[in-house]
Amino acid sequence: MSKTILPGSTIGILGGGQLGRMMALKAREMGYRIAVLEPKSGSPCGQVSDVEVVSGYDDRDGAKKLAEVSDVITYEFENIAHETASWLEENAYMPQGGELLRTTQDRFVEKASIQQAGLKVAPFQKVNSKEELIHACEEIGFPAVLKTRTGGYDGKGQWVMKESSDIEGIEFPDVACIVESWVPFQKELSVIVTRSVTGEMTTFPVGENIHVNNILHQTIVPARIDESIQEKACDLGKKLAHDINLVGTLAVELFLEGNELYVNELAPRPHNSGHYTMEACETSQFEQHIRAICGLPLGSTELLKPVVMGNILGQHVEPLIESISELGSAKLHLYGKDEAKHNRKMGHINFLASSTEEAEERMTRWKLWQ
Ligand code: AMP
Repeated sequence: MSKTILPGSTIGILGGGQLGRMMALKAREMGYRIAVLEPKSGSPCGQVSDVEVVSGYDDRDGAKKLAEVSDVITYEFENIAHETASWLEENAYMPQGGELLRTTQDRFVEKASIQQAGLKVAPFQKVNSKEELIHACEEIGFPAVLKTRTGGYDGKGQWVMKESSDIEGIEFPDVACIVESWVPFQKELSVIVTRSVTGEMTTFPVGENIHVNNILHQTIVPARIDESIQEKACDLGKKLAHDINLVGTLAVELFLEGNELYVNELAPRPHNSGHYTMEACETSQFEQHIRAICGLPLGSTELLKPVVMGNILGQHVEPLIESISELGSAKLHLYGKDEAKHNRKMGHINFLASSTEEAEERMTRWKLWQ
């Protein structure tokens, strides 16, 4: 049953990180009130919310409290306990449901469901021991990568094996894993698709993503790819969204190899590679998400200007503050996190220009990332 949630209502967000913060800021502009559930008060999202429910993500009482004060519930990260998601599905209005969360929490289930939708993924197998890993690698070949089924992000919980002798050096983790073949990609891309409770659907322009040490460093838009790949990526995103009955936002991470697109990973929420939309598109991914779950018409995703998004990690904060005069007209977003730990995502900057080359040149001229 879909409802229209009007401005003045309260949106409850599970998770208090930067994605929740950027959703909340946009929703407040649109006249909504925000409640957030997060174990610590004063979180990036808590700072800009009307109500903070300070509670563990798997605490039933916390979920109940959030439900009591919210007219609609959404989430900003995928590792929400099954029990909490199921309880909210039954006892509150959470139009995104819990199914996609359950799928994307487990790499094996996720890849199987992508395959079921008729899309390509790198060959993979589940493995629970070193013996199974050796056996699977005989079939899959090398290079290959071992990944934990749950809990990994930014390359954590991953072991790359270039040849069979590399298996010896791996201490098999104490958790269920998958092994998949390494895709010799030319580019990493992502497409963000949004589907409203009404079934209306949009995709944002494809982003070209550059990672450094497995962490997203830059997103370049328009991606430097053929129009036909652009279309293929958007069609694939829409097909997936349709197949899984998506409500809300889905980020689809892709590898481009030759003319083939392989799906690497799904994120059932706004995504770091979509931060460029905040100034470069007519509607941002955060506004679109709010519109989708509230049953408002979706906005135009048209790209207004070429853009390069650069992530600010913990180690970039001090140099950023010292050289803030270099910012020029670039758009700075900081997430209100107090501890600037190494590699922690602290903010991002959008460089808009008349071409991606110029935007990139502005970014690299500022020696922040060297
Ligand atoms: P993930 O956590 O699965 O998104 O992996 C983090 C990064 O590792 C990706 O963005 C890729 O750069 C790289 N990677 C992971 N799996 C593969 C693969 N099967 N083939 C090539 N690169 C990969």
